[in-house]
Amino acid sequence: MTQAQTVLLEVKQYHGRVKNYINGQWVDSTTKEWLDVTNPATGGVIAEVPLSTEEEVRQAVQAAHEAFKSWRDVPPPDRTQYLFAFKSLLEEHKEELARIVTQENGKSIVDARGEVQRAIQNVEVATGAGSLMMGYNLEDIARGIDEDCLRQPMGVFCAIVPFNFPAMVAQWFMPYAIACGNTYILKPSEQVPLSLNFCIELLHKTGIPKGVINLVNGAKGVVDALLDSPEVRGVSFVGSTGVAKYVYQKATANGKRAQCQGGAKNFMVAMPDAQLDKTVDNLIGSFYGGAGQRCLAGSVLLAVGDVYEPIKERLLEAAKKIRVGNGLDESANMGPVISKKHQDKVLGYIDQGVKEGAKLILDGRGVSVEGCPDGAFIGPCVFDEVTPDMTIAQEEIFGPVAAIIRVKDLDEAIGIIEANRYGNAASIFTSDGKSAREFKHRVPVGNVGINVGVAAPISFFPFSGMKESFFGDLHGQGQDAIEFFTEKKVVITRWF
Ligand code: NAD
Repeated sequence: MTQAQTVLLEVKQYHGRVKNYINGQWVDSTTKEWLDVTNPATGGVIAEVPLSTEEEVRQAVQAAHEAFKSWRDVPPPDRTQYLFAFKSLLEEHKEELARIVTQENGKSIVDARGEVQRAIQNVEVATGAGSLMMGYNLEDIARGIDEDCLRQPMGVFCAIVPFNFPAMVAQWFMPYAIACGNTYILKPSEQVPLSLNFCIELLHKTGIPKGVINLVNGAKGVVDALLDSPEVRGVSFVGSTGVAKYVYQKATANGKRAQCQGGAKNFMVAMPDAQLDKTVDNLIGSFYGGAGQRCLAGSVLLAVGDVYEPIKERLLEAAKKIRVGNGLDESANMGPVISKKHQDKVLGYIDQGVKEGAKLILDGRGVSVEGCPDGAFIGPCVFDEVTPDMTIAQEEIFGPVAAIIRVKDLDEAIGIIEANRYGNAASIFTSDGKSAREFKHRVPVGNVGINVGVAAPISFFPFSGMKESFFGDLHGQGQDAIEFFTEKKVVITRWF
């Protein structure tokens, strides 16, 4: 038996029918509609997930609404004790959770461990809610009159999250919301429900009061029912731009707060003075980490001036060395994409690139992985001679495909980024402070990397995004999350 096969045996192969978590209980859905959850590396069914009913959503909303009445009065230092316990449990079960992430999402186990670490960091920051949600005051706004500004929880919030970070994305929101005294409903991606299910099992073990956190599985039907519930005060969404826009419009039309993160097309600019080795290492991580299915993944390399030839050669050389395999195999650098359906979509983009005249200098189509004949694998691809108007330079591919565009200067590079509809992330690689400063100042994206290929904000900072990558104003993580999950009340006091 190979080492990879031994490792595979350490993961539960079939998780059964996924349950909902409502009012502190794990409950079977009564729906007749179930979807298979598959391991994208093997194509094997690992669980079934319910498309829960409107009645089940109503029950979860009701439970959260009831729980809010007492949870809001639990002092912040007591509320955050549950998060300290949750964090300890996440630490204790880190490896188990990472393996579930890889099993249902496909990403390499190294990427999955990184994801779990980022999830834990958000729980850590949310434990500071007592300090973070403090208000402010001013004595003597008029003679003998004082004024205070308090931050208070609002009620029931929910999160609707995507497939690409099954354990982490929900933690950009949920720990902050409950630490601030709100109650919560999670709607995992129906493609990867197991990781959040496992997280909520851990949270349940902390003894958190019933109804504070609820989980309802499903897809559009559950989302619509949440957005139509008057008791739901706000929604955090992460996913593709079309759905982000839909959720934002429906939520705000129904009077809710909304923060909706959408899709991305991230450009990497390499200047002639970039340090080639380090730049290429970063580019490889950015283009191919998570098989290109990160919202911060690099997608297009804008090679400025003379750097074009050498960087192309080195990128190609490095991309060829990436080992594609089952993510649970420690030696695999890159796993499959999420599903056969998504594989077809990415392959469609590659065909389109070829049709529009780009030169496919590394072709990952038809890659095969020993022992995984039914996996949704695509090897690393590199397109050269791409022009900014091509589909592969414009649209989010969400797969392991890098496109190289030759540009004459930084101005042209920034112009291409400005013209794109998305504004999630962009990076520059340079040794010149002036170019870096200009890039940082001008580029219209929310997360900027300077000699950093994946500009992922740590949890003290907002996870930003602009243009069609974000609808709303307050972001997830850090102080923005605290602002989103509280409302301000001003009290003016005079004692006679
Ligand atoms: P998706 O939009 O298909 O699904 C996201 C969530 O929305 C899921 O929970 C899904 O059940 C729900 N949903 C899907 N269609 C819906 C509809 N018509 N009405 C209501 N709800 C619906 O996204 P995905 O494929 O799971 O995730 C990939 C996308 O997420 C990419 O576009 C990626 O860029 C984006 N993403 C963005 C960020 C960010 O920070 N901006 C982070 C991670 C992922």
